Amino acid sequence: MTASIIDGKAISADLRSKIANDIKDLQEKNPGFQPKLVIIQVGERPDSSIYVRMKLKSCSEVGIEGVLVKLDGKISQEELLAKIAALNEDSTVHGILVQLPLPKHIDEELITNAVKQEKDIDGFSELNLAAIFKKSASPKYVPCTPKGIVYMLEQEDVTIAGKNVVVCGRSDIVGGPLAKLLEKKGGTVTIIHSKSTPEQLKFFVSNADIVVSAVGQANFITGDILKPGATVIDVGTNYVADETKKSGQRMCGDVDFNSCVQVAGKITPVPGGVGPMTVIMVLQNVLESSKRAAGLL
Ligand code: NDP
Repeated sequence: MTASIIDGKAISADLRSKIANDIKDLQEKNPGFQPKLVIIQVGERPDSSIYVRMKLKSCSEVGIEGVLVKLDGKISQEELLAKIAALNEDSTVHGILVQLPLPKHIDEELITNAVKQEKDIDGFSELNLAAIFKKSASPKYVPCTPKGIVYMLEQEDVTIAGKNVVVCGRSDIVGGPLAKLLEKKGGTVTIIHSKSTPEQLKFFVSNADIVVSAVGQANFITGDILKPGATVIDVGTNYVADETKKSGQRMCGDVDFNSCVQVAGKITPVPGGVGPMTVIMVLQNVLESSKRAAGLL
């Protein structure tokens, strides 16, 4: 038996057209309604430029105005903070996304916290993250990758409540909030991190109905440690040598796809799994923000 493939491209395309229709309908009823996202890119990292281009293209596909503010890599922290403060005050802007990583001389914590909570569509500020962890609070925005994964699991009718869930990785942007969201959905969640032993990884993964890997290490999850029928979500984005490729490398996830697909019930590919979900959730969060600003949510 081989697993069925969870098609992140198809799920995100479906949500993309829902977002586009929603914006069109809202504009017909409210002519001034125009969602707007500003992306701040500091410096010229080629990988960041690719992600920024992808996000801007996606914005234009659904009717969100996407604006790139490209800043010199040598900009001071104070100047960057001033830029963010001005955008916080600009009522035409509904989302501010600071493309990470930032140059070393800039404190990422300080910068992500400087984005007003209402416009923090990445959900990385302390206030938004804290709200995920508080039982009685509801976050304005959930970080896009965890939000996309939960949406994907729901679209695939994967039961979370009462299931054993393993999340590998505990970062603020993926593993940490995702583990909490899945626990809030009723999963019994174990977090694997860099201090976990290989024995613990094997023990918990082999008992897990849902395994999410967000570690950043190729072949971290292999078929031999999976529970048959498990749902496997691969967040990792890694590059390994591949002589058959012009670039000499190919992109892969954390999951050894070839062995896991033989054992799992459902599995996401890389590329084409979690990646497209992350991008679409940026758009979803901008739409929510603009609706909230217009008093429509
Ligand atoms: P971080 O580097 O911030 O976090 C990695 C996590 O993995 C940490 O919690 C770390 O543990 C844990 N870890 C590292 N090594 C091991 C190990 N040997 N065993 C167990 N745990 C380990 O990464 P991110 O969360 O930002 O991203 C994770 C991966 O997901 C990356 O490959 C990234 O490129 C990818 N990604 C993909 C996205 C997508 O849309 N597809 C979006 C975001 C990220 P500890 O906390 O103890 O240090």
